[in-house]
Amino acid sequence: MIRLTEEARAEIAKVPFFVRKMAQKAVESEVAKANREEVTVNDVRLVREKYIKFAEEEKDQSKAKPTRIAVVRCEVVSEVCPGVACFQAFNQRKIAFSEYGPETEFIGFFTCGGCPGRRVARLVEKLVPFGLDVVHLSSCMLLEKDYVKCPHWRQIKRSIEQKGIKVVEGTHH
Ligand code: SF4
Repeated sequence: MIRLTEEARAEIAKVPFFVRKMAQKAVESEVAKANREEVTVNDVRLVREKYIKFAEEEKDQSKAKPTRIAVVRCEVVSEVCPGVACFQAFNQRKIAFSEYGPETEFIGFFTCGGCPGRRVARLVEKLVPFGLDVVHLSSCMLLEKDYVKCPHWRQIKRSIEQKGIKVVEGTHH
């Protein structure tokens, strides 16, 4: 039966709470492996260092996550547009994409599925587990010159925001 000295208990209490249980199990297992029965403050310090490092690495990894974006466009316009202007604007980080750094990832490009655009919320939901941060409404949905502006764009925008995803209006105009 593994026991902890009082100092060892106090030292364990300093481990960040989300890895504390794991750290205690790890220190007990190290002590058991060494055929000892008492966990000392030094045992805890050794494992604590390891877990703090682990927690810091986890934090760094989440900080390093790149921004992930997708574009939704008009189903009707997609019959005559392969989307090259959206991709060019993104690749050159211009117009609606000018704020993004080189690490930004373009992870989805899809149409609304036809009026009134009900498909959008479902596809956004599919992209959320892949780390989606932002959806752009394509310029073809919003322009009033070449095409009729999408009568449903506000509703589509709301349906995306309700999934906790930021919406940017426009792509290449
Ligand atoms: S809902 Fe808007 S974007 Fe979709 S097909 Fe209709 S007009 Fe185009």
